[in-house]
Amino acid sequence: MINERADLSALEGETFDLAVVGGGIMGTGIARDASLRGLRVLLVEKEDFGSGTSSRTSRLIHGGLRYLAHLDFKIVRDDLRERTRLLRNAPHLVSPLPCLIPIYGHGVLDRIILRAGLVIYDLLAWGSGLPRHKWLGCNEILDSEPGLNPKGLRGGFLFYDAQAPRVERLCLENALDAVGNGAALVNYTSAIGLIREKGRVVGLEVEDVATTKRHQISARLVVNAAGPWAGLLRDLAGEKSAPSAPMVRTTRGVHVIVNKSCSNGIVLTARTDGRIFFVLPWLGYSLIGTTDVDYSGDPEHIQPDTEDVSYLMDEVKRFFPSLGDNNVLGTYAGLRTLSDSHRGKESDASRRPKIIDHSAEGVPGLISIVGGKLTAYRQISQAATDLACSLLDVQRMCLTLDRPLPGFLGTELSSLLDGSRELADSYGISKASGEYLAQLYGNRYREVLAMAGENPRGRTVLCPHTPAIMAQVRHAVNHEWARTPADFLLRRTLLGLTPPCFGLDALSIVIDEMGRCLGWSAEDKRKQKNTYLSNVNHGGWLQVRNGPKISTND
Ligand code: FAD
Repeated sequence: MINERADLSALEGETFDLAVVGGGIMGTGIARDASLRGLRVLLVEKEDFGSGTSSRTSRLIHGGLRYLAHLDFKIVRDDLRERTRLLRNAPHLVSPLPCLIPIYGHGVLDRIILRAGLVIYDLLAWGSGLPRHKWLGCNEILDSEPGLNPKGLRGGFLFYDAQAPRVERLCLENALDAVGNGAALVNYTSAIGLIREKGRVVGLEVEDVATTKRHQISARLVVNAAGPWAGLLRDLAGEKSAPSAPMVRTTRGVHVIVNKSCSNGIVLTARTDGRIFFVLPWLGYSLIGTTDVDYSGDPEHIQPDTEDVSYLMDEVKRFFPSLGDNNVLGTYAGLRTLSDSHRGKESDASRRPKIIDHSAEGVPGLISIVGGKLTAYRQISQAATDLACSLLDVQRMCLTLDRPLPGFLGTELSSLLDGSRELADSYGISKASGEYLAQLYGNRYREVLAMAGENPRGRTVLCPHTPAIMAQVRHAVNHEWARTPADFLLRRTLLGLTPPCFGLDALSIVIDEMGRCLGWSAEDKRKQKNTYLSNVNHGGWLQVRNGPKISTND
């Protein structure tokens, strides 16, 4: 199936049940849930699906051990249930992650409290199928994590959580499932106005970012899933939200990418402020993160702050003495949207989501989703769609609880990988590429291999640092809505996020192939290259420190 971008002019005459603004994990999750319930759904995303906060997280699918300290058992239990569902419904995207909490010094009381917390965490995760926590001695810890500082190490706890290393694709697969169930999804389309009749929101004014053409879209309900931009979208309604309480509080979180430094997720406590942070294994490298600092600037201009990076590297050095500032390969920043607008300490603010029906403020026809974790996106989407159904006076059951995502393996990962190696070989493609494709696309890898089989150029490997092949570019354009090099490199394949070359060595041939698919002129290609490079090299949300140097004027 070719996923063509929906034609907005053709949609202007229609009245949608829901018009969702925002193609992050919440918006795509809602579009999927609502379309499965038979509602007619349109989703508009001003950039690319998953290009906002959803692609800038720690990538953990977790209950959040630290929320136990706030005695927030319900949120932890709900999130642990969602963790179990994701492990079952999307095993190609979410996998168990063993985590270690190394213990330094003599704090016996701390150790008892921690053990009690882990017992509760295991109880709340009852039925997950993951092993329970256990204590490991010093030698066992150092055997599995030789990079950890042995000085003062007393042992540590091993427990299990989960990780979605390619969250971007989790977002995309929700979008694919939504479209498969009749939703219309459009990226690079910004909601610039809320249309109101007798006070009620009855649709959206949207603008095609490429052509600046505007369209009026009618909808019985508008769902604001704009993440950090949710307050701005709400303000388009004109009525003032309650002045004492801004609708969203946003905090900046920074991650650092370094060479592989651990095999388990390592949970650490920062000395300067007692915050918990992680060192995580990720796609053959490690992620260190994150920070949590109030941010009131334009969400569009979020950047990894040098102070945040220094804080993380100073703290991590105590536990991993071989890591220092020179080891930073890249950094990225994202914005948390918190529903708790009180100005307490950032890390103490509740991660509970809020689903707001704006009728009470005199803006009927608009609902907003604020806050909540990636882990809980399915449950939050369910609650938002339940509210939408009740406002639309329709009764339809949620169908996402046990529904696999489109790349679902349908078999053990090991047999999928065996099959992918064999099939790749039969097309004259390396077994390493076959395996890589199965890991990235789950059972949809066959679509990519079939495209590579049709055209020898499709079998070309994109650069010496990756088994990725050219057919993926055409596949991303034709089947996964990719429109720019960033869509392909950062969100369809994640080549642009990973060392050693951060996708830069593949940039030119990716642009050439996208140009063939999308009819770009030489000037278009030059502009695409310059835009991409200026974003990753000079002050975008992603900053590459040690990638190859490519001039913007090549
Ligand atoms: P977004 O992903 O930001 O999506 C909103 C979308 O709306 C954007 O794509 C934007 O372009 C679009 N948009 C905005 N305005 C408009 C408009 N006018 N028209 C059209 N489109 C518009 N959660 C976890 O469970 N585990 C973690 O490990 C974790 N780590 C995190 C680490 C950090 C540093 C941060 C910041 C968050 C973390 N989270 C984590 C939380 C998680 O990332 C968020 O809960 C989730 O990504 C929010 O998704 P969203 O769809 O609401 O927002």
